[in-house]
Amino acid sequence: MSDKDNALDVAVRQLDMVAEQINLDTAIHKRLRSPARCYIVACPVRMDDGSVEVFTGYRVHHNTSRGPAKGGIRYHPDVTLDETTALSMWMTWKCAVVDIPYGGAKGGVACNPKQMSRGELQHLTRRYTSELVNVFGPRTDIPAPDVYTNPQIMAWIMDTYSMSIGYAEPGVVTGKPIPVGGSLGRFGATSRGCAYAIYSLLEKLNRRVDDETVAIQGFGNVGYNAAEILHDDGGKVIAVSDSKAGVYNPKGLDPRLLAKYKAETGSVQGYPDGESITNEELLEIDCSILIPAALENVITSRNADRIKAEIIAEGANGPTSPDADEILYDRGKYHLPDVLANAGGVTVSYFEWVQGLERYFWTEEEVNSKLKGIMDRAFENVWHIYQTEKVNMRMASYMVAVKRVAEAMLLRGLYPQ
Ligand code: GLU
Repeated sequence: MSDKDNALDVAVRQLDMVAEQINLDTAIHKRLRSPARCYIVACPVRMDDGSVEVFTGYRVHHNTSRGPAKGGIRYHPDVTLDETTALSMWMTWKCAVVDIPYGGAKGGVACNPKQMSRGELQHLTRRYTSELVNVFGPRTDIPAPDVYTNPQIMAWIMDTYSMSIGYAEPGVVTGKPIPVGGSLGRFGATSRGCAYAIYSLLEKLNRRVDDETVAIQGFGNVGYNAAEILHDDGGKVIAVSDSKAGVYNPKGLDPRLLAKYKAETGSVQGYPDGESITNEELLEIDCSILIPAALENVITSRNADRIKAEIIAEGANGPTSPDADEILYDRGKYHLPDVLANAGGVTVSYFEWVQGLERYFWTEEEVNSKLKGIMDRAFENVWHIYQTEKVNMRMASYMVAVKRVAEAMLLRGLYPQ
């Protein structure tokens, strides 16, 4: 297994490893290695200059044994069927680790949203949704935001679907704005869940957030909100980066001022109250907690032995290669894997879906305290396996998750025989 493997090779290899570890039923293992179904759709869009571009969109359902297919939609130039499939598999495990009643899915469109106007993004979103209008549904497949998609895009998905069925259906998509059935607390939920996982770990280690220094790669939804929450809770955020550049200040950065600067200039690059660093340097900064909250495969065998943080909490999906996993484990790092550390997002998506189906909405305090309950329980389940089985926390999380999925599959049996 090398760092060059694509995300799908990594996801399948991880499944193979856990299958061996838990002695997984061979037929279940075989079934879990492939996605249940993949959709590929062409999305023609009239661009602002009058020309027509055709974007390729994907939606993959990995497994729906525990409930409807659930997972975000990503807009990024590097989106492929393989990447979407890997991400859908990770969603299956993520929903199972936190024990919410969903299967795993992911969607994506290969496009560069940074170079598209709001109108072009709306047309693309509506066409992608209408191509998949018979796939999406509150009982079948519920999309959500992911890399470079946001609540506005979810509102367009909700509207396109609702127009097609003839009534407003908030349950078809999560991560929506509040006025169209979004949940309080959903916007920062991935980061809040990540913070809860970090706090559970700190408690086990008899440490306090006030004594921690934090570096965060990525200053989008997950990175920004993580910076704000950890800063407000007393942690010192000393380094942050976005896709262009990073900024470092050992005395601590104020995430809100940094966000204001980014909103004005388009990047954290050149922020006056800190030293300029690269994304690679950020990962190797001398800090106690590192949160990779951008894209896949950034911690690999090339830099894993230079990571100084004692705690790594994966805000992004798949930021660590399997080789790097081993190196970090051997170096005694505490490594909270994506399927646990960023599961707060899908957990509050679940709350949003439940509220939407019932047309009855909760307070932000209720949302956050239920999220804490789910994250704490998931952390304890994983920590127990980590301690007793002497495996890394990714393997421990997978052991919890794959067993749950396998149990559901065995109970439901194989259709039609
Ligand atoms: N895209 C997020 C994730 O990877 C959220 C998915 C969801 O809420 O369905 O977990």
